[in-house]
Amino acid sequence: MSFLPQEIILGKRDGRALPPADIARFIAGLGDGSVSHAQAAALAMAVYFRGMDMPERVALTLAMRDSGTVLDWSDLDGPVADKHSTGGVGDNVSLMLAPILAAMGMFVPMISGRGLGHAGGTLDKFDAIPGYSTSPDNALFRRVVREVGCAVIGQTADLAPADKTLYAIRDVTGTVESVPLITASILSKKLAAGLGALILDVKTGSGAFMPTLEQSRELAQSLVDVANGAGLRTSALITDMNQPLASAAGNGLEMRNAVDFLTGKHQDARLREVTLALAAALAELSGVVPDQAAGLELAEGALTSGRATERFSRMVAALGGPTDFVEQMDRHLAPAPLVRDVFAPEEGVVASIDTRGVGMAVVALGGGRTSPGETIDHRVGFDHLLPLGARVDNRTPIARLHARDAASADEAERRLVAAYRLGETAPDQPLIAAVLPPPATPRT
Ligand code: URA
Repeated sequence: MSFLPQEIILGKRDGRALPPADIARFIAGLGDGSVSHAQAAALAMAVYFRGMDMPERVALTLAMRDSGTVLDWSDLDGPVADKHSTGGVGDNVSLMLAPILAAMGMFVPMISGRGLGHAGGTLDKFDAIPGYSTSPDNALFRRVVREVGCAVIGQTADLAPADKTLYAIRDVTGTVESVPLITASILSKKLAAGLGALILDVKTGSGAFMPTLEQSRELAQSLVDVANGAGLRTSALITDMNQPLASAAGNGLEMRNAVDFLTGKHQDARLREVTLALAAALAELSGVVPDQAAGLELAEGALTSGRATERFSRMVAALGGPTDFVEQMDRHLAPAPLVRDVFAPEEGVVASIDTRGVGMAVVALGGGRTSPGETIDHRVGFDHLLPLGARVDNRTPIARLHARDAASADEAERRLVAAYRLGETAPDQPLIAAVLPPPATPRT
């Protein structure tokens, strides 16, 4: 029978569950031209309003995974694992987590993205390192994962190309904010990376993609159910993004913060807790340790022994960065021309932070993008950002600002001051708001 995409669109428009074979045919059609972009937009809008049940979400995810290459790591003699974060401000966890996991005995082919809007992107942080290549050829990528244990690189054109096409369509048709479509988009890329285990860090709060706990929980549950349904062992943490996670926001400054974290020179407490919790959860999921407690101990050991730093250094050098990047970071990371403190207009306690506003202040400095493809300045941003509950007065700045010129510094300062709200006390927010384990594996 001939294939009529409009029949599939009609089915979803009228609220029917689509058979997996129809979903697979529709996504294949996006690649071979038998489904037009207008038809894909119409289906996306129908899904936006009508939703998808779990079998449909799994079918969509698998179809998008199969639109391109699926990496095969069966030549490695250890578990292959990765993390995905829904993104936030000062979220530089991946920079430390990848080498920590490698030092714990996992292989981490971490395929990351660039920042857009208020949220930073891991690749932009690595771009701050002179010479580091985020787009190595496949042979080098595989060699670095095999020999070092981790490689953080960018999306390649042959991994889940249907997601690339569909995301570009969703972006211009008001259909990004659909949990089934977000789920398939995120997971198709992770499944194509050939992972054996995945931990999700779903952010919640004022700097998160999903600001309320209810929305974050809905997305996290969908991701966990669909990933496990598609055969990828996955769990999720929902973590707080009501303030920047690190005390730095901006690409080079977050890289510096990450290296100081690895070497033990400076570790932000909340960042440490989230990073180690993710490492421990992934070690348990991968079967490296029997439980979380053993995972935490292993992760702490990887960090404090210097083994994670050593993996990080080797990865940077293997991907074209300086061999002495960690030791000579000040020489390799370009400083911004203008550095100054930012003060609050009055005394008080940091009672709430519009974290998205902090991210947009980094964009105002030129450190983030308002549209894909824009070039950014890796030198700019903030460090020494005060956390919630800190007391400020006219001698205690809320942050130190790094700018390329006075005009952008003034605009970013205005935005940062507006984002920090002072009061008497700060609310007590749990850092890890929820843990969503994988469904219990059925006994055979
Ligand atoms: N990130 C993705 O990769 N896809 C989405 O749809 C949303 C966020």
